[in-house]
Amino acid sequence: MLQDRFGRRFYYLRLSVTDICNYRCNYCLPEGIGCGRSLMGENPLSVPEVATLVRAFASLGTEKVRLTGGEPSLRKDLVPLLEAVRASERIRRLAITTNGYRLPSQIDAWHRAGLDQINISIDSLDPAQFRHITGHNRLGTTLQGLERALTLGMTTKVNAVLLRQYNLAELDNFLAWIRETPVTLRFIELMRTGDNRAFFASNHVAGSDIETLLLREGWEQVIRSRDAGPAREYFHADYAGRIGLITPYGKDFCASCNRLRVSAQGKLHLCLFADQGFEMRETIAAGDSEALAAHIRVLIGGKAAGHQLHEGFTGATRNLAMLGG
Ligand code: SAM
Repeated sequence: MLQDRFGRRFYYLRLSVTDICNYRCNYCLPEGIGCGRSLMGENPLSVPEVATLVRAFASLGTEKVRLTGGEPSLRKDLVPLLEAVRASERIRRLAITTNGYRLPSQIDAWHRAGLDQINISIDSLDPAQFRHITGHNRLGTTLQGLERALTLGMTTKVNAVLLRQYNLAELDNFLAWIRETPVTLRFIELMRTGDNRAFFASNHVAGSDIETLLLREGWEQVIRSRDAGPAREYFHADYAGRIGLITPYGKDFCASCNRLRVSAQGKLHLCLFADQGFEMRETIAAGDSEALAAHIRVLIGGKAAGHQLHEGFTGATRNLAMLGG
């Protein structure tokens, strides 16, 4: 089992399959950086390379893989990528994080390829506000895709970043929605990155404030499973859905870290906010999963105890689309 010097075990791999995104979320890629770039120029890991990488991680005890980005559904070969991950028998959970823009036309094929969990980013349930935040008028399509995911029986979560000047006032609408909708709605605390410093200063909402409000309304915390991320989950008898809180500025957030990240070009990132990624492409391209696993074992020794977000250090992370949130 892959374990670092602080005794943390890593069951969970977050694999970026592209750093290009078609959305222009105001807290992430307000200028739509990357939209015009070609996937070929970016040279992301190919299907056989992903298969080698996942074999290596599976041999080290990884049980869950999430494909993220950029926007993973921009990859034309997403279905073969999903199948390549599924080919490793030890991977028990296969998840994706998506903005959902292609969901209605794609979700059935992803499901057939073995996808069992989907996280859909929906920062507002109001069409105009959704467009304002993301730059796209696609709330209706995204919600249609979400309904289909539920019909297919997939574990379905929704990611929303609460922003003081935009959607914070919608908190009650979000809660009303999950009274009847059986999804886990995860509020992600806005993180400061290299590119969004001024935006962060005017829009950050402390996760602890949201938690105080939930507890006051009768929400109770659920016990964590071992491959769960650092999100804390809450349930309420009157609601079909649940709430997740991801509070990277909270106490002990990094102590429960159970994930490693690999960039679209095959670099190992020991933390979302690390100063650098470690090159693994040559070994990945050679198809040698045993050598790759040995390399990862050595690199894990360098994982730091925690990020330094509180001190304002955001490492090499200019925005989360570079590596996946
Ligand atoms: N394109 C996909 C999507 O929209 O879900 C996957 C990549 S996106 C970077 C993953 C998640 O990171 C999204 O839920 C997004 O809202 C979140 N995110 C991006 N920048 C963030 C920031 N600065 N702070 C907190 N969450 C952020």
